[in-house]
Amino acid sequence: MLSNFHILLIGALLCLLMMLVMLSMWRTGIPGVREWTCGNLLGCAAFLLYAFGRDLPSFLAFEVANAVYAAAGAAILIGYRRFFDRPIYLVWIAASVVAVFAGIAFFHYQLDSFLGRTIVIALHQAFIALAICVSIRYSPQGRRSRYPHLFTKIMAGVIVLGHAARILVHSTSNADMTALLQPSPWNLLFLSLGTLVLPILTFGAVMMVHDNMLAKLEDVANHDFLTGAWTRRAFFELADREFMRMRRSGRQMALLLIDVDYFKKINDTLGHAEGDQVLIDLVLRAETVLREGIDSFARVGGEEFALLLPETEVTQALAVAERLRLLLNRPDPQMRRPPYSVSIGVAVSRPDEPMRDLMRRADQALYQAKQEGRNRVMLQSA
Ligand code: GH3
Ligand code: MG
Ligand code: MG
Repeated sequence: MLSNFHILLIGALLCLLMMLVMLSMWRTGIPGVREWTCGNLLGCAAFLLYAFGRDLPSFLAFEVANAVYAAAGAAILIGYRRFFDRPIYLVWIAASVVAVFAGIAFFHYQLDSFLGRTIVIALHQAFIALAICVSIRYSPQGRRSRYPHLFTKIMAGVIVLGHAARILVHSTSNADMTALLQPSPWNLLFLSLGTLVLPILTFGAVMMVHDNMLAKLEDVANHDFLTGAWTRRAFFELADREFMRMRRSGRQMALLLIDVDYFKKINDTLGHAEGDQVLIDLVLRAETVLREGIDSFARVGGEEFALLLPETEVTQALAVAERLRLLLNRPDPQMRRPPYSVSIGVAVSRPDEPMRDLMRRADQALYQAKQEGRNRVMLQSA
């Protein structure tokens, strides 16, 4: 049968394990990881102090152990605040730990009450859990998965309810509960649940860190390093999704393939850096003609770009292509980039036409534009 001592040791072990998990993410530099690591280290220390409390001076077993436990919760909260880029309010958080220390000292030396000490630590944990909930609630969700946020909010709610239940039980039937290490079914139950609080709050953090890392990786994989445009891979994914949508709605979409004219000559005469500048400038200026959240612009090759225009018919597609060609051909009076022109091939989707066929037709039109002298727009209509 597990005793309170063993449960407290398991609590220490759980915090140690969560600290090691967090330590493995230290290198990511994601805000909050340092605080979550420290929080679990403090949690581990607090559980060891609780566990060996009988053999220690009562000051260490009561005031110091509870203050260290409160500091562990505070560090976890600060981690969440940093992760979500929210103001920390360090003075208030530190004051809450000092208040725990003072509260425990009061219910130890002034008025020796296990219930009093339980209420002090329960109120502090409820405050930490609620503050974490609020930090999550007022942080932008973005396009990331909702699960880690939901998990942490629900768990924080359960922690608050658990503490409320603990206070209720202790205040109505405190006959056999006069100390943390007193063996009683209720003490055993609340102690077991209590050991899970810090690890659970850290689990939420681990999920959020993973989600954050995944978002960063997706961003790197989906965006061209030089220009920031979508990559070829991301473009085909977007295009496939758009293709399904167009098929359902029966609308058309247009594809523009844009290629810089004589780009090799720009590189050869002005250098590779100037060539890069042309590519960056092309994407920056092209973005000004896009419908935000509707059109997709990607770098599909060295100096070749693709623009997908959903719900667009031939006349609109040609107008956009011509506007883009003229815009890119306009010289820069401040000479921040060399003058350049583009050729554009346009194709508009046919019912049920696969993406690769649309791409092939736009490519044919681009080839034709090059053949006919460059710096022009050609429509593939055959
Ligand atoms: P055309 O008018 O027929 O399109 O001729 P072009 O010179 O533009 O075409 P070509 O395919 O002969 O040359 C494309 C050049 O683009 C060759 C390659 O070195 C260069 N290139 C590819 N990627 C990059 C890049 O990231 N930066 C720079 N500066 N150049 C690149
Ligand atoms: Mg070219
Ligand atoms: Mg090319």
